[in-house]
Amino acid sequence: MNTQTNIIEQIWKEHIFQGNWVKTNNLSRDIINPTTGEVISSVKLASIENVNTSVNIAIEAQKQWSKTTFEARAKVLRKAAQFFEENIQTFIDWNIQECGSTLLKAGWEANACIEQLYMASSMPMAASGEIFPSSIPTRTNVWQRVPLGVVGVISPWNFPLLLSIRSIAPALAMGNSVILKPSEFSNITGGALLAWLFQMSGLPEGNFQVISGESEVGEALVNHPQVNMISFTGSTGVGKKIAESCAKQLKKCALELGGNNAMIICEDADIEIAVNNAVWGTFLHQGQICMQTGRHLVHRSIADLYIQKLKEKALSLNVGDPSLPATQIGPLINGAQHHKVCNMVEAAIHQGATLECGGKGENLFFYPTVITNISKDDPIFAEEIFGPVAPILIFDDINEAVKIVNSSKYGLAVAIHTERTAWAYELAKQIKSGMIHINDQTVNNEYHVPFGGMGESGYGGRFGGPANFDEFSQRQWVSILDKGIQYPL
Ligand code: NAD
Repeated sequence: MNTQTNIIEQIWKEHIFQGNWVKTNNLSRDIINPTTGEVISSVKLASIENVNTSVNIAIEAQKQWSKTTFEARAKVLRKAAQFFEENIQTFIDWNIQECGSTLLKAGWEANACIEQLYMASSMPMAASGEIFPSSIPTRTNVWQRVPLGVVGVISPWNFPLLLSIRSIAPALAMGNSVILKPSEFSNITGGALLAWLFQMSGLPEGNFQVISGESEVGEALVNHPQVNMISFTGSTGVGKKIAESCAKQLKKCALELGGNNAMIICEDADIEIAVNNAVWGTFLHQGQICMQTGRHLVHRSIADLYIQKLKEKALSLNVGDPSLPATQIGPLINGAQHHKVCNMVEAAIHQGATLECGGKGENLFFYPTVITNISKDDPIFAEEIFGPVAPILIFDDINEAVKIVNSSKYGLAVAIHTERTAWAYELAKQIKSGMIHINDQTVNNEYHVPFGGMGESGYGGRFGGPANFDEFSQRQWVSILDKGIQYPL
């Protein structure tokens, strides 16, 4: 850890970030390293009263921020990108020690954040609006973009930096203030470090704040009448509660939720590529990814070979200390997650599934697992596992496979492996999924392409590129008459 973050660490142990670090006697929460089980730091939590104060601060700050020039907003976001780049190792180190990310995953996430910040820095200078003709002579109709006001961002622990920044950066670019509620399992990586980042970026005080805490703090943010939008990434269960609260208040919400993503491997697939892709899609970050390949559907004619190769590869993965370059599988985030994965695998075996490899773990580690002889309705196949498990189902007919894929309540990402790309492109239209990748795996994110799910995987919109404008601003119709007119009443 460099000296600069050591100084900051002393601050987050005693302060909360409300645009400035504010000293508090509030409760603290220990930060535990999932690899070792050791307490490595602590963070001050926000109270419900702090949430209310933060909203007031955000409202005042936003009035000025929305009036700044596009150059000023772009400069802040560029500076944030540069500061992230200069301090990339700090972000990587915390992601490893607090969240169990491997060096590979933490490095990928950090670089994606930098790209995301640069992309958002181009948003303020984009044309925003159009002129329409009018049936009334001398009238001009214009629509223009206006900010929403205060945007509440609630994020998960699995990609704590990227999944926060992908909302914060475009929301700030569009002239909003942002209040971030990070996950309780990534308070430093997805919270305090972002406070540090935006403080150092030259963002005016109060336009970005962090309120760490348990679900009550998130609920207070969602229910505050002067928070104008909630951008939430997390589980479908919590997303439904947030949608309900927002609906009651007629508040805008954008939800990026859970997934149980299928990979269809057709009879003409390149098996080497399919297996390689399946390993990445299933085991990256121990499978704790919303887009994880959680359902493998393989054509019967190649199933034996696919299972054998996937098993060989799963057995060869290095499980251990995620800070070591050779490690491919780190720990799961916490005991509850580990318990859930163990229980789901044990239940599947109890119901007659075949354990090809893995199926057990030590401390918070869980070995890469391949499971066969299952049916489409078994929880191990039908539910989101969020662990390093590859359940494989064999199919004979592609229509049957598509029906199984579409039977899930989720609809986030699907991959199809085949030589017939034009056919797969057509097939994509029959599949209920927000993202479909042909001859690739399911874990894909490109910051400039609209990202999001169908069904219970998402609600409210898309992230990325052109979609960000509508997500984080609203359209306003302004009509201008040179001179007032008389109405016949
Ligand atoms: P979670 O839903 O438990 O928590 C997410 C956040 O919501 C946390 O900050 C938590 O403190 C907060 N929260 C919990 N209850 C709340 C409430 N009642 N009101 C307001 N806030 C509340 O999810 P998690 O365990 O952190 O993340 C894993 C889940 O996230 C998985 O289901 C995964 O698929 C999903 N996810 C989705 C995407 C996507 O882009 N679709 C990306 C990553 C993760």
